[in-house]
Amino acid sequence: MIAPESSPYSPCVLCPRRCSVNRLAGAGGRCGESAALRLASASIHRGEEPPIGGGGGSGAVFVTGCNLGCGFCQNYQISRDGMGRTVGPGEFIAIMLALQDRGAENINIVTGTHAAAVIACGLDLARDRGLKIPVLWNSSAYEDDAVLDLLRDRADVYLPDLKTLDPRLGTRFFGADDYPRVASAAILRMLDFRPELRWKDSADSPNRGAPAEGSVLAQGVIIRHLIIPGYLESTRQVIEWFHRHAQGRALLSLMTQYTHCAGGRGEKSLSGAAPQRYLNRAEYERVMEWLTEYGIEDGFYQEPAPGQDWLPNFNRTNPFSSRLSLPVWHWTVPAPDKIDP
Ligand code: SF4
Repeated sequence: MIAPESSPYSPCVLCPRRCSVNRLAGAGGRCGESAALRLASASIHRGEEPPIGGGGGSGAVFVTGCNLGCGFCQNYQISRDGMGRTVGPGEFIAIMLALQDRGAENINIVTGTHAAAVIACGLDLARDRGLKIPVLWNSSAYEDDAVLDLLRDRADVYLPDLKTLDPRLGTRFFGADDYPRVASAAILRMLDFRPELRWKDSADSPNRGAPAEGSVLAQGVIIRHLIIPGYLESTRQVIEWFHRHAQGRALLSLMTQYTHCAGGRGEKSLSGAAPQRYLNRAEYERVMEWLTEYGIEDGFYQEPAPGQDWLPNFNRTNPFSSRLSLPVWHWTVPAPDKIDP
């Protein structure tokens, strides 16, 4: 899928980690992945923000591996522990077309930064074979120009995290003190790519006004932030950043579902540094006050939801609850003998 002479995988400097390993020869850097695309699951997902899921659900494609490796990742089975299997170009295209055939509103590529080059090739081939729905890039935003240049003409909607603007927390939770600088610059570039929110209504005609009930985002940026218990000043800084740089051009999605996940292998796991409690009601209400102070109304926030019942388990054919997710593909399904690329 990628010609070795033009590959950013050898030596790999695709992301800010700049590991310089030869992924074409099978080596994995911080992300743990060779040049092969590995996936864990694909499903019609109804747990995303309303303009992402719409009426048909979002076509979520979960990529194995991660270049950031948060100490509190709820998807640690696939992001840090390597669960998943290799898919060739033909199977990747077939998965996306199957999601479209099942009514997905978009193709939602989850944590694909380290695999951006091979994903970009797959998206181009899928477009040639009839993929028409928007492509959504759902990432940590720990990505720089090498990846963003690949996405520019391929991603319609960006769903980046802005996890923190505090370099000390970047070091503690991700081993990346440059995360605030890299992620904020990446999001500003995404806003340059998609400077306004465009909505796809049921008549399939994008419009630029306020969304009608049930409208789905056709183009734009939604910035996600997970509130970390005990680190509210970090959340206040993110809200202020959104107010100064993105308000009126993007939506803010505040997530309260922080839970401590103990998984993760060896030195890549920073789970010991992560708080081991849930967000409490007083913290939640303080954050809601900041939204009011900064006049932020366009966006989403979850009610606190302590507990881990909702955590995905990628050992199951449907990693999520049946209420949230309709499985379309799973890594335990054997690879077909042949699918034409
Ligand atoms: S994509 Fe992976 S191997 Fe390449 S620089 Fe980033 S973490 Fe390292």
